[in-house]
Amino acid sequence: MRLLVAEDEPDILRSLALALRDEGYAVDTAATGTDALYKALETEYDALIVDLMLPELDGFSILATLRTRKNTPVLLLTARDSTADRVRGLDAGADDYLVKPFDLPELLARVRALLRRSSGNPRPILEAGSVLIDPASRKVTLHGNEIPLTAREYALVEYLVRNKGTVVSRTALYEHLFDESEDSLSNLLDVHVSNIRKKLGHDFIVTRRGHGYSFES
Ligand code: CA
Repeated sequence: MRLLVAEDEPDILRSLALALRDEGYAVDTAATGTDALYKALETEYDALIVDLMLPELDGFSILATLRTRKNTPVLLLTARDSTADRVRGLDAGADDYLVKPFDLPELLARVRALLRRSSGNPRPILEAGSVLIDPASRKVTLHGNEIPLTAREYALVEYLVRNKGTVVSRTALYEHLFDESEDSLSNLLDVHVSNIRKKLGHDFIVTRRGHGYSFES
């Protein structure tokens, strides 16, 4: 899952990005509203975390343009507990909001809830045959036994299972699993897929030659 965090206070931006990367998300950052809108339109993010008050373009203006083109879930961060701002933000197309200062565990839980709702599967535990995936703890079990996965392997498994039944292209996987600062080495994906098959079974991920990968339960 790839997120964009738009925040103009450098300390908050840095610590948020760090905390989200620790959770296994690919994270891009923007420090101005203009940059945030540009990136949000150019990249298929799984969710956006947008500070309401940003230089150049505020959160309301970002939403106004974004919502004419995209459904990307948006969590708004508001600096003060102003009902008027929250109502305006939600009516402009935000999906949720959080008042600053917020506790990190709450932000992480709200992001998980947004991703759950937008994937069309509201259940907190994802089922993939005998494999169970818990996005809150990022634990994966096979026949009840916990299977250790690297952060990237976990992200790949979760993404494919959330999109089960559809063929996910390699391009889409690169877009959703790697952030803007990473080099996309074309063979890396195959290495992760091969490692996942060793851990979860050879049939867990189906290769669609020339198209990408899919998970079929
Ligand atoms: Ca701000």
